[in-house]
Parts: sequence; structure tokens; C-alpha cells
Amino acid sequence: MTDEILRVALDTPLRRTFDYLRDENSPAAVAGQRVRVPFGRREKIGFIVSIETHSELEKSKLKQISSYIDDQPTLDASLLCLLRWAADYYHHPLGEVIATALPKLLREGAALQERQFVWTLTPAGRTALDAGEPKRARQQRALLERLAAHEAGVSESELADWPRWREHARSLRERDWVLRQEREARNHPQASMTGPSCGDPQGSRGDEPSAANRAPPPAPTPDQQAALDTVIASGDTGYRAWLLQGITGSGKTEVYLRLTERQLQAGRRVLILVPEIGLTPQLVGRFAKRFAGIPLAVLHSGLTDTQRLEAWRRTHDGSARLVLGTRSAVFAPIPDLGLIVVDEEHDASFKQQEGGFRYSARDLALVRAQQLDIPIVLGSATPSLESLHNVTLGRYQPLSLPRRAANAQPPTLRLIDLRAEHVHAGLSTTAATTIEKHLVDQGQVLVYINRRGYAPTLACTACGWVAPCLSCDARLTVYRQASRLRCHHCGADRELPRQCPQCGYAVKTVGQGTERIEESLAETFVGVGIARLDRDVVRRQDELEAVVSRITSGEARILVGTQMIAKGHDFPDVTLVVVLNADQGLFSTDFRAAERLAQTIVQVAGRAGRGDRRGEVLIQTEYPDHPLLRGLLEGGYEAFASAALAERESAAWPPFARLAALRASALQADWATDFLAAARRAAPKANVRLLGPAPAAMAKRAGRFHAQLLVESADRAALHRFLDRWVPAVEALPEVRRVRWALDVDPLELF
Ligand code: ADP
Ligand code: ZN
Ligand code: ZN
Repeated sequence: MTDEILRVALDTPLRRTFDYLRDENSPAAVAGQRVRVPFGRREKIGFIVSIETHSELEKSKLKQISSYIDDQPTLDASLLCLLRWAADYYHHPLGEVIATALPKLLREGAALQERQFVWTLTPAGRTALDAGEPKRARQQRALLERLAAHEAGVSESELADWPRWREHARSLRERDWVLRQEREARNHPQASMTGPSCGDPQGSRGDEPSAANRAPPPAPTPDQQAALDTVIASGDTGYRAWLLQGITGSGKTEVYLRLTERQLQAGRRVLILVPEIGLTPQLVGRFAKRFAGIPLAVLHSGLTDTQRLEAWRRTHDGSARLVLGTRSAVFAPIPDLGLIVVDEEHDASFKQQEGGFRYSARDLALVRAQQLDIPIVLGSATPSLESLHNVTLGRYQPLSLPRRAANAQPPTLRLIDLRAEHVHAGLSTTAATTIEKHLVDQGQVLVYINRRGYAPTLACTACGWVAPCLSCDARLTVYRQASRLRCHHCGADRELPRQCPQCGYAVKTVGQGTERIEESLAETFVGVGIARLDRDVVRRQDELEAVVSRITSGEARILVGTQMIAKGHDFPDVTLVVVLNADQGLFSTDFRAAERLAQTIVQVAGRAGRGDRRGEVLIQTEYPDHPLLRGLLEGGYEAFASAALAERESAAWPPFARLAALRASALQADWATDFLAAARRAAPKANVRLLGPAPAAMAKRAGRFHAQLLVESADRAALHRFLDRWVPAVEALPEVRRVRWALDVDPLELF
């Protein structure tokens, strides 16, 4: 028996690791390796997180691991380090954290490396080809020619886009003209365990983007050049966090591209995090175009399990030199990572707000950069107040792009007082005539409304009934085209009633969503192409691309949509943006609502006038004197942000305090609050403030009752010391059995 004790993390809610013995016949283990281990009556897949010489359990009680799944680590030392940090900071079991970071198929035991098959030409094949064979089968001959051009052979994945290639290859093989062989596994850059900066044999080679098929990049503007000079002067390696604040259309992407190019040339890899799939197509397109020929991997939630595994493998084995992805891509296993970019760093989608492990990909990206000692760039036109505060504290270095690139002017903003205007279906007369004018001038128009569906409410004209969701404290949204009533919170889906179910009188819709606005715009602007962009129209990436191309081709002249239209699109012919209703968010109980509203308005407004013609932005409101709107109009985002930060400071909200929320839901309202009250009683004495328990603003959702208890402290270390002691106590409460609960460290939304 060996002395080695393998400490293994398993995907269980238990807040601990498990010790196993290595059997003496198996090769030495390394941290990060995947193993199968006996667990209860079953076997489970886990990860070796460390190799120890002592266990708290007696050695005779320890079981042996069943087998190694791979002969190399799945998680390299630096990634394991990040995952441990995350487990610690978010007070979540390491096994579950690792599970979140990995593709499902790997958790289930899929091989780390794909078996690759390669087709090559045999000498007989060469002779046949020289003799002009096969004379009739043109496809087969084309395949022979392709193989003849590649002495090392052509892999099946490279052949995949060739129609019916398998059939042709099989016929050729029957004549012994070609050969199918398994390719040797690639030399694995992560097999070495001495640390992140070591051991990638390809790493030092450096990749020059091939000049031939590369679009000529624009010369940087003076602002871009100044930002680049600052970053470059401080070195291509070494931790440094940059906050690139560039107004919409200022060309932040060009800065990312240039910094990326430097890293690629030095043989390092680059990770670009983007908020949502909605942003991905255009950004991916720009990177793919600039770095044509450089292997790129894209990781986002729209991938199938197989696609995700494939992208992950290409990242892990080092073949992808550039990795673009959404939230969970912060865990992408990238050897020789040289730079991280977080685009639209303020975006809420970087925060995982559901499930057990609620992490911020932006914050983890900073930790990863720090651990790897590499630079990181956070970019936004509307940085989060946290990040702006970090600039003040000197933790981030500011970079600024205050002007638009390509000579475009920033748009002019104007408020429309809804109380003083005639309004038809949500659209004021001023807005309607302005749209008309821009259409006549050959411009395109964006209409933003933060509500999807036809109308948010269905009501009775006689008795006051409104269609409620039976599982939520919410009304059902009307979908008129589909003739359905749907709940946006639980997915309930019912037929649209023709009469009031209570009294039998007629029903009517109240208010408007994107579908209704699309309909009324179509009535007003007959013959004008109108596109709609929201989560109902666009569920997959290709659907998004279809809508975006209707706008870029000019076929559609008006685009109606939710936040999705605000995200990163570059539509050069849009000259007018109309914000239909800015008022939601002006009076919210959530202390971040104002920040989110300001960001959305500035981002949507930023879609106007990105081409040669100056843009115009109209914001409809019933509160034209509201200080937030006035401040934004008069002083821009910067003025808003400094006023908002001052307010946060006097109220002692983040970033001037640290928060954690203990959230619970249960089938009965008092079970959730009882649990939280017990958790409050179980709290150890510490320098923190407990607020609650309080029911959520929408207490009932999908048949469960939600409540929360907030923990606040001015001191981050004090908060975490408290959580270290408190979370195990919470877990041990008898009330825990009747609830689902989660700890949300640095919560983004408070309900
Ligand atoms: P942002 O992401 O900051 O909103 P983009 O990167 O989308 O801005 O750039 C806005 C527009 O300006 C794009 O059409 C882009 O191609 C163009 N652009 C960026 N940098 C330059 C430059 N140096 N010279 C000319 N055009 C540029
Ligand atoms: Zn009625
Ligand atoms: Zn519901």
C-alpha cells in the first residue's frame, strides 16, 4: 500500500472533500485529474484536488479509487487555484463549483481527448491519381487531390463540411488508394504541473495572423492610440486591471483587437468575455475576421452538450488561441493565458443569479488575472459603480475614449413629457412625427420598450377581474398572435379567454409590449419593414442573426425590441432611438435600479447616429423633472455616476459596504421565513448587520414562496469570517429540510 492519500472533490452538496487511497499498481496521481471512486453503493466521478500524506480517517477505513479516467489532469494548477478561490469566496462546495465549470459530458466521463482519424493517400493512390483515375467519379478524384496536397493527411473534422465525403472515402479505401489512421494524441501543454507560466512547447512559437486573408485594420484614433500606449507601456505581462471607459461607438473593440494581437504574436492566448449570446455574433465576427486563420473557440449557453465539449477540448489542448465566451467561459481551461478582456463589464448577465453557485464572472476574471499575473481590461460605456469606485481607490487604472471613432457625433437627447402629449398605443405624437421624418430621410429607427408580449395585462371591462398567474404573484402577459396568456416568471401558458371567466363580459388588454408596438407601428407606417427583437422572437443564435441582418441589409427600417436591441450592435444607418417608457426603475425599491436604468438608456441611445449622420434620441416619461433623467441629460453618465455613488456612500450600500443574501424558497410562505428567522438566531456574534427576513417583492413564484435575509458589513474580511462560521450552522438547522436555499455573495438584485 502506498502512503499517498488522494483528496477528491465530488459533486455533492456536502461541504467537504473525500480521501481515497491510490492503488499501488496505478501510476502516480496529480491534482486536477479525474477519477472514479466508490461512493456509498455507487461509483462517482470526482477530481483529485490534492495529494496528502495524512487523513483524518484511519487508513484502514479509506477506500481505493476505482480508476483514473485520463492520464493527464483535466484542471491545471492555475484553474484549480481559481476554483478553490471561488468555492471559498462564494462559500460553496468545491465539488459543485468544479461541476459548474466543466461541460456536462466531461462530468459524465466523456474522454478528455477526442480520437482523431486522419485520411492519407497510399502510394497506389498516388499512382492512380497520376494516371487520371478515377475517371468518372469526380468527387472521389477531388478527394484524392485534396489528400495528395497534404502529406500528413486530412483529419475527419476538416473533411466534415464536404458533402458525402465518407461515402467517397470508403469507395477509395476499397481500392486501397487511401488509408484511415488514428492520429497520435496532441502533445498536451497542461500535463506539466509546475504552474501556469510553464511548459507549453507551442507557447513560445508565436502566431502571426496570416497577412493574406486579413482585413486591413483601421489606423487607431488618437484616443485609441493613447489608451494602447498606456497599456503597452506598463508591459504585456504582470497583473494590472484597466477600466476602459469609452462612449458607445468610440471603438473599444479596436483596442481589444490590438491588445489581443500583441498577445497572440507573443505566443500567448486571450480570453474575451461577453455578456450574452445577443452580443456574440457581431463581436465574434470581428475577431474572426481580424484573426483569420487563428483557431478560435466560442463558448456560450446556446451550444449543445457535444459542441460545448468540442470547444472545451480545443481550448484545453491548446489548439484554440483565442477564446470568446459568456459567463461560464471564465472557467475555460486556457494554457498560457496572456490577457483577459471583459466587454460590457457592467452587464448583469456576468452574475449567475440562479442555482446554488452564484458567482460573478467579471469578479472571477479579475481574480484569475491576478493569480496568473496577467493584465485584464474591463470595458464599458457605462461602467458599474463598483468599477468606477475601484478606479477611485486606485485598484483599476482608467483608460478613456471620450469621442466616437470614425467621426460620428454623439446623439442629441430629448425628453418627451407623456402627460402633455396625445399618446396612441404607447407612442406620443412627437415620437410618431419624428419617426416619420427620419424614415423620409432614409434613416432607420430603433424603438425600445422593456416588455415583451402584446400587453402586460388582460382585464375585464365590467367587474375588474385581471388575469392572474395561479402560481405567481404576477399577472399573465397577453400574446395576441399566438392567442395565449403566458407567465414570464413560471412559464405558465394558457389559452386567451374571449370573455371574463368571472362575469362573462368582454375583456380588453391594458398597456403594451413589443408585439403590440410592432402592430401599431405597422398600422401607422404602412409598407415600412419592421423587425422585432426580444426573447420570444429570438431563442437561438441563428434567429438573432436573421433579425440583425434584416436591419443591416436595410430591408427593415424600424426595429422594436427589449434590452436586446441595446447590446453592442453596430447599425450605422440608425439615426433615431425612441425609449417608449423610462419610468420603470425610477421608483424601484432595489438600490441598483437607478444604475441599471441609466445604463440602459445610455446604451440604447448609443445605437443612434453611429454612421455619418448625427443621431437623435427621444425618451418618453411622465416624470421629465426627475433628477436622474435630468442629470443624465445634462451631465451624461459620468455626472449620473458620481451623484449615484455619493448617494450609495451616504446610505452605506455597495460599493461602500459588502452584502450577502441568504435566500430561501418553500411551498409555504412561513416555512421560508421560519428558516431564515432560525438562521438569524443561529448567527454567531460578529461585526455584521442582519436585515430581515423579509418576503421577496414578488413573494410567490412558480408555486414557491421566496424570502431573504441580508447580511451587510463595511468590512469584507469581517463578512467572510462571519459567513465561514455561519453557513455550516445554517446547513445544520432542522428547518433546512423544508426549503431550498442559496447564499448569494455580492448579490446584484435584491427583491
Ligand atoms: P464601441 O464598442 O466602443 O461601441 P465599436 O468598437 O463598435 O465601438 O466601434 C464603433 C465603430 O467605429 C465601428 O463601426 C468601428 O468599425 C469603427 N471604428 C473603430 N475604430 C476605428 C478607427 N480607428 N478608425 C475608423 N473606424 C473605427
Ligand atoms: Zn368580469
Ligand atoms: Zn407564473
